[in-house]
Amino acid sequence: MILSVAFATYAQQNVAFSDHFRDSTLRVDYLRSGCKKHDTCTFSKFVYQNDRWAGSLTQLIDPIDNGEYRIVVSDPTTGRMLYSRCHNTLFEEYRSTIASRERDSIATFEETMLVPFPKHKVDIQLQKRDAKNHFFTSAQFAFDPSTFRCRQLPSKKPVELTKNGNPHNKIDVVIVAEGYGKKDARKMKDDFQKFAQYTLEQEPFKSRAGDFNIWGVGMLMNESGVTDPNKNRYVESAVGSTYNTFNMDRYLMTTNIFRLHDLLRGTPYDHIIIMANCDTYGGGAIYNYYAFSAVQEMSMWILPHELGHSIGGLADEYVEDDSNYNRRYVGIEPLEPNITSLVNFESKWKSIVSEGTPIPTEPVEGLGKRDNGPVGAYEGAGYLEKGCYRPCTQCMMRNYAYFCPVCTKRLHEIFDLYVK
Ligand SMILES: [Zn+2]
Repeated sequence: MILSVAFATYAQQNVAFSDHFRDSTLRVDYLRSGCKKHDTCTFSKFVYQNDRWAGSLTQLIDPIDNGEYRIVVSDPTTGRMLYSRCHNTLFEEYRSTIASRERDSIATFEETMLVPFPKHKVDIQLQKRDAKNHFFTSAQFAFDPSTFRCRQLPSKKPVELTKNGNPHNKIDVVIVAEGYGKKDARKMKDDFQKFAQYTLEQEPFKSRAGDFNIWGVGMLMNESGVTDPNKNRYVESAVGSTYNTFNMDRYLMTTNIFRLHDLLRGTPYDHIIIMANCDTYGGGAIYNYYAFSAVQEMSMWILPHELGHSIGGLADEYVEDDSNYNRRYVGIEPLEPNITSLVNFESKWKSIVSEGTPIPTEPVEGLGKRDNGPVGAYEGAGYLEKGCYRPCTQCMMRNYAYFCPVCTKRLHEIFDLYVK
């Protein structure tokens, strides 16, 4: 109890960047192994990732209470928190899907987090949530810059797609080209432009376009396309992505996280989009981890939806019959801002619901394809038909409508963190 009070006090204090960090990026690579019931982390390596830090110099402690996990950099002498970032992981998806429930076998996942490069010795804590959603430390590594030997790996020079200013005050997004063969050089160039445009085409991204820098990084391989086990197609692509992740046809993801970040050495980035050269509908995204989308006719809608997950930490607002996900919200609120179990609706968007609106709210019939309808609490969200509610009848996070007011507000809050 005393420890958490101390952490809360420190978290409110401003950390002066230059007292503790150099303007460069340290990459923390580790392995998370586990099954549905438990998991453990083991250290892999530290990498000198970039000779600049892409994040803010003032917003070092994450004020957004979202994500199942958090990385914390702290002073080993005082315990003072110097940097933190909440995130989700592919392991969490594995753990909550049928893949782990049926087999209950242990799987290992690569994970990478970026932190500003410490000037002095620090502790790096990997934290996760307990049953009441409070963070606790599950693994801790020490980092001492005086004994660190820089690992020299080749880095790719990024293509500048949209440049609006210093990475410290911008949301830096890198688009990684995946599944492009030697004959696809021209297509890769065109697709970079397309994806940069799709990233900023929908509100609230559109009105904040000046707050983004967008980079492109790509490798041309011997073959085109990505692995699709359903089509018996196996391809050696740049980051080894595959459809049918965790037995879900359209779940297009990669587990090669170290290789992905190796490609990005030398690029200043806060967020990753993987642009897969394949025309089958597919994608996926994880909060502060990466977003994935195939390059096909629905990309202009899939990409903003996936960025809602990876940048905004938003939940899916749709229902999935026979869902692979086995999440339930009994007696607790989901972490994500755009779904509620009504256990503590005050902590979500109750304050913007018009007076007299019944809760739960009946969906509006006959809305335009992209309209949200009024704000209320509509049953059916977070894959669950019952017991989970969304803010509007329609939203980008449900059926590719406009982002609803609740999702829009959260995205603006997150964007603001990068530009301060
Ligand atoms: Zn929404």
